[in-house]
Amino acid sequence: MSLPSAAIPSVCCYCGVGCGVLVKPGKNGDVSVTGNPDYPVNRGALCSKGLNLQYTVNDRTDRLLYPQMRYSKSRPLQQISWDDALARTAAVFKTFIQQYGPESVAFYASGQCLTEEYYVINKLMKGFIGSNNLDTNSRLCMSSAVVGYKMALGEDSVPVCYDDIELADCLLVTGANPAWCHPILWRRVEAHKATNLATKIIVVDPRVTDTCTLADVHLQLIPGTDVVLNQALGRALIENGDIDLAFIEQHAEGFEEYQRLVFERTVAEAAQLCGVSEADIRLVARYIGAAQGFLSMWTMGLNQSVVGVDKNLSLLNLHLITGQIGKPGAGPLSLTGQPNAMGGREVGGLSNLLPAHRNLANPAHRAEVQQFWGSGPLADKPGFTATEMFEALEDGRLKAIWIICTNPLTSLPNVRQAEAALAKAKFVVVQDISNKPETLAYADVVLPAAAWAEKEGTMTNSERRISYLPKVVDAPGQALSDAEIICRFARAMGFAGFDYANTEAIYQEHTRLTTGTTLDITGLNYRILRERGSVQWPYRAEQATPDTPRLFTDQRFYTASGRAKIHPVAAVFRSEVPDETYPFILTTGRIRDQWHTMTKTGKVSKLKQHTPQAFLELNPQDAASLEVGEGDLVTVESRRGSVRVAARLTTNIRPGVVFLPMHWGKILGSDLHRANNVTSGAVDPVSKEPDFKFCAVQLEKY
Ligand code: SF4
Repeated sequence: MSLPSAAIPSVCCYCGVGCGVLVKPGKNGDVSVTGNPDYPVNRGALCSKGLNLQYTVNDRTDRLLYPQMRYSKSRPLQQISWDDALARTAAVFKTFIQQYGPESVAFYASGQCLTEEYYVINKLMKGFIGSNNLDTNSRLCMSSAVVGYKMALGEDSVPVCYDDIELADCLLVTGANPAWCHPILWRRVEAHKATNLATKIIVVDPRVTDTCTLADVHLQLIPGTDVVLNQALGRALIENGDIDLAFIEQHAEGFEEYQRLVFERTVAEAAQLCGVSEADIRLVARYIGAAQGFLSMWTMGLNQSVVGVDKNLSLLNLHLITGQIGKPGAGPLSLTGQPNAMGGREVGGLSNLLPAHRNLANPAHRAEVQQFWGSGPLADKPGFTATEMFEALEDGRLKAIWIICTNPLTSLPNVRQAEAALAKAKFVVVQDISNKPETLAYADVVLPAAAWAEKEGTMTNSERRISYLPKVVDAPGQALSDAEIICRFARAMGFAGFDYANTEAIYQEHTRLTTGTTLDITGLNYRILRERGSVQWPYRAEQATPDTPRLFTDQRFYTASGRAKIHPVAAVFRSEVPDETYPFILTTGRIRDQWHTMTKTGKVSKLKQHTPQAFLELNPQDAASLEVGEGDLVTVESRRGSVRVAARLTTNIRPGVVFLPMHWGKILGSDLHRANNVTSGAVDPVSKEPDFKFCAVQLEKY
């Protein structure tokens, strides 16, 4: 492939906003990156992470350059050829599959993989190896939203587009801090509010964040009480007569049971449980009730919870009882944490999904995919989810794991359990761009991968917008694209169907497999994506309009009845209960200038200046009772482990609640800043998403 010399359009590889960039190749394989003024998402604007993207590409000092392997657990890694690395890996995988069955091996991948990469991993694992043990770090991020959408709307389909921001007159931001975590989208909200002062912004968060500076109302609720709050809003909307009875009667089901449930608790009782005022709940209900366009935005505060699905459903219920969906400026907008978590879901890249929103439990759907791939039968049992994989490694059910583009020894909850699991694993493959992930210490085989701008493919952002990302520079050393590595491995395993002429051939196969589904993109190809810059799915071959910005405009949903489902979810508490020994609630989250486990953003000195090190945010009242001053070292301990960080005193957090940033892993061999030493491994029973936002801890001045 010849490389371009002029600036060419691509998409930022960090968050799910998916901003358009222009990438220009320079000398020695370096690139420069600027915002793309023609891209509809961001119109040239970039946040601090996007503005510094080029430095992460140009600094190759940490890159993995060649395959490595160790011949036994006690011997060091040594350089080998690609052929030898993949032949040995294939031999080990075949041995385990023969001896223990296909469930004994697994792939753990990432919401940062390109769609084509996801596609071939999914095809290899589910079609040819024959188990569903492919999960990704999207399980830690969006799986509660996925289940919520499926249960309420019939499929995992975000119904709105970013242009609905400017058409909404009431925005509810709950469990999210988009001012820091989805900044360019938030700039659009700020601009909208600045020119439409009557637009109401409601923020629900246990902390006062930068997002709150724009809020008309901030409900600073006690962590874990989101369902109670949303039910109280539902009750107040019903009491005020601010529901859409015609919509409910014609397009929804489950309202009577919902009404009965939300009237079991008064708004005053709910306010007390949530730690907010009844007047504020009623004010928010009036704002929602008066809105022409009611748009909600949320992310990890709802998703990363043992009741994450219930939290999602309770929010979706507010849209369904008010009929605020399928029309301009209205609907739920889940903010995706990673750049291509949605692309991964489109190809079925989780352990309980099949391609193009097909249902794993449906024999006809499995047969359809099997026939298309020309593969063996697809397993009907869901595979291990992210946290289950590490449990299975520890107890020996899983023998081998292949980790792609993710850093679980920083990002998994109760991470010391994951460390113990990797130490027990029989065989570990790590495929990454960086030599920093802690997983490398456990790897039997290390495979160097190409990074952003060094490979081509597609991604889908939070509004179903698919974009093409070109290869602009060559990867360093012997690094290969993730798709190429997987296809070579599949061939080494002896599987047919992985001999693609190029990346586009993978994409075209993926588009054909969407035929007739709700995300049908059979009209799409690389040429159209390059010409148009981006397209929102579905994009059918015979489609009259060139894009689908909004779903459910005909008020018909993807359920069997065509009606949306109002789920009367009860408010249950499943998190770890604070007690005398562990009296504080710990919540975790991101900071403005870092991304995930910092393997990329941690390389950029400008980005480190904002927050150079981990910290513990706590209320001055709590600090006084512990005799902790600003900057004092504090040990934060849970039933699983501890961290030691400097205290940051602020009234922005409620008394009794403390906050740790999630980015830091081991530094110079020490894990004292790693928040996931203490987080809970408990998961939502349906989505299997962990409870990152709630665990019980004690604090002690060091
Ligand atoms: Fe990149 Fe997200 Fe920032 Fe846009 S908002 S520049 S996609 S990190």
